[in-house]
Amino acid sequence: MNARTSFYRGRFAPSPSGPLHDGSLVAAMASFLDARAHQGQWLLRMEDIDTPRVVKGADRIIMQQLQALGMHWDEEPVWQSRRLPLYEQAFQRLQEAGKVYGCACTRRMLTGGPYPGTCRNGLPPGQQARAWRLRVPEGEASTEHFVDRWVGPQCQNVAREVGDFILRRADGLWAYQFVVVVDDGLQGITDIVRGADLLDSTARQRVLARMLGFTLPRAMHVPLLYDAEGRKLSKQNHAPALELDRPLETLSRAWQALGFPAFPAKNIEAFWARALPAWAARHCAQ
Ligand code: GLU
Repeated sequence: MNARTSFYRGRFAPSPSGPLHDGSLVAAMASFLDARAHQGQWLLRMEDIDTPRVVKGADRIIMQQLQALGMHWDEEPVWQSRRLPLYEQAFQRLQEAGKVYGCACTRRMLTGGPYPGTCRNGLPPGQQARAWRLRVPEGEASTEHFVDRWVGPQCQNVAREVGDFILRRADGLWAYQFVVVVDDGLQGITDIVRGADLLDSTARQRVLARMLGFTLPRAMHVPLLYDAEGRKLSKQNHAPALELDRPLETLSRAWQALGFPAFPAKNIEAFWARALPAWAARHCAQ
């Protein structure tokens, strides 16, 4: 093992709100191939923190789908719903450092766009905190430059473009942006490979990771798939579950969505044996 490949920890972090579909397989495949091509570890994390959206049993189905396609993870999977004390601790650290504040604004009071900072210097008289926000560093201190391994150079000033964002929601649940950073940090994730819909969250997550003292992972945001009406394939849009009775065709569709030409493979092992060096040649020389 040389230095470049000696330490790599990637993850696939599905929300178990339904089975995987062709769109989520593209992200799963890319993160799996990238981890294996770097001789790294590939972890599975169930992001079941948004409990109203979780569908009972979907986590098991996702695990069966991945295994049926020959995508085997390392280490025991984790479930965010079982990690609540870790989120509480990280939150307390931010709170003790004066980096969070209570917010009384309702969705109706906010017009969309960056949070205007209404509650930043204290709640309006007589109002109670509903949600908790991160005190994003002001000015250029929240400008994040990074090179996405798929999309290229990115730059976002989080204070200006997003504002103080929510860590704990009004319904008491932890926000995705918060728990994903705590988990990636505590699990020692070095490389995030996921769908392009999360590219815009990356600067926010970097700001938060810095404030929590975590090493910043590299990022790669791979293309999304769209249905015939041009909508992102998603569980909300009722994308059909992966076709596992034709696993090679299912794998090949995801592979082509990642910009590679189709090739014949006689079984699942043969598919991965050929896909892996092709991925490595294109994406691991960086
Ligand atoms: N749980 C998120 C999703 O399924 C992905 C989180 C991530 O990869 O950062 O969209």
